[in-house]
Amino acid sequence: MGPAGLFAALQLAETGARVTLVERGKPVAERLADVQDFWQQRVFNPDSNTQFGEGGAGTFSDGKLTSRLNHPLTHRVLETLVRFGAPEEILRQAKPHVGSDRLRVVLVNFRRQLLQLGVDVRFSTRLTGFQVSNGQVCAGELNDTELLEIEHLVLAPGHSARDSYRMLSAAGVKLEPKAFAIGLRVEHPLELINRIQYGMQSHPQLPAAEYSLAWNNRQSGRGVYSFCMCPGGRVVNAASEAGGIVVNGMSDFRRDAELSNSALVVTVRADDFAATDPLAGVRFQRHWEQRAFQAGGDSWSAPAQPLLEFLHGQGGRLHSSCLPQVVHAELADCLPSFVVDELRRALPQFDRRMRGFVSEQATLIGVETRTSAPLRILRNAEYESVSHPRLYPTGEGAGYAGGIMSAAVDGLKVANSILQRYTV
Ligand SMILES: Cc1cc2nc3c(=O)[nH]c(=O)nc-3n(C[C@H](O)[C@H](O)[C@H](O)COP(=O)(O)OP(=O)(O)OC[C@H]3O[C@@H](n4cnc5c(N)ncnc54)[C@H](O)[C@@H]3O)c2cc1C
Repeated sequence: MGPAGLFAALQLAETGARVTLVERGKPVAERLADVQDFWQQRVFNPDSNTQFGEGGAGTFSDGKLTSRLNHPLTHRVLETLVRFGAPEEILRQAKPHVGSDRLRVVLVNFRRQLLQLGVDVRFSTRLTGFQVSNGQVCAGELNDTELLEIEHLVLAPGHSARDSYRMLSAAGVKLEPKAFAIGLRVEHPLELINRIQYGMQSHPQLPAAEYSLAWNNRQSGRGVYSFCMCPGGRVVNAASEAGGIVVNGMSDFRRDAELSNSALVVTVRADDFAATDPLAGVRFQRHWEQRAFQAGGDSWSAPAQPLLEFLHGQGGRLHSSCLPQVVHAELADCLPSFVVDELRRALPQFDRRMRGFVSEQATLIGVETRTSAPLRILRNAEYESVSHPRLYPTGEGAGYAGGIMSAAVDGLKVANSILQRYTV
């Protein structure tokens, strides 16, 4: 029930197909309570958290709908979101965003519509396997117990469903490792970013300022870039596995919180994690997430360091919105040395582009590891797994999308491909 799965289900159900939608997590209201428990009491639920549950990874997000896609289906996604309660202005904006608060409303209306169309929506239900007959996928295994006969299995698990990746690998589904990026999140006072970008702390007619930074190291061939910027938002611990820290950013529609944040990440190639098998990238991510967990004191606090101290060994102070909390740590211990080196080279470049970016008021928080999937589930021109006919990998976890909009569009494309089979 992330954007890929939701949009695929809607498209199929609107055309009259019989759809069962399974989601390992909970409906959005119950999920919100679990996530609050995690952020406030540090009670972690492996199936109901910032990554898993109704709405997928984007539920606790900035709800940015920007993407590099220029596909007619993007409009269909925006119109659908507006139909379910997203602000109408997203239809006109160059950089539309919904905000985490408004997304929750959209999700409830989305589910109502699916139920009205007869979709069998099952929460707390995990796809744990599948069966093959005559060379084609013919049934899904749910919660290790139930078999559900199907004609087509759309698989939209996101990039954090590591048990699902393991299950697919064990079943012989063709996967390949892919590049991704890892790094840190940076937080600055919103007013500082406004001052850099607008020349003034605030203006009633200007939104919280955004930025996008990129620098390529010609010698190493690596890119360092800002990612998923959340103006007036907050940093959150977005873990989906015990013993590992993953940070990300979210904001409400008004983007009026005190701090602005974004990820600063470095590209990681398959040869950086000695990709002997398709799951090597997952192990690489997990290793650094566990290092961050230890650096944070083994208690779900995120390790953090003033940006000046990360760069020059001293200076600055910690100021972070991160939930549940940050603790001071040496961030160079939480990332591979090539990532640390690239970040240290890129930061002065970023400061040249945005004077004041390297500031005593800036804080770095670790670690940002889930920028995109570390593997791809290979599929053919009909969007079907190359090894398993009738299995349709889609969305970010399959390696064909990055972000809410592109995941939703990919889900629509898969649904259309399935419907095409029935067109005479
Ligand atoms: C905190 C945060 C902020 C973000 N901010 C933005 C943003 O502002 N803009 C943007 O474009 N993107 C943002 N993203 C990224 C965006 O959320 C993802 O790119 C997008 O949600 C991917 O969609 P998806 O449908 O492919 O997968 P997901 O959204 O990850 O959904 C997958 C779903 O499948 C479920 N699932 C997994 N395995 C199983 C299984 N075996 N059985 C049953 N269910 C299963 C999961 O519980 C989940 O609900 C953010 C992500 C996070 C974590």
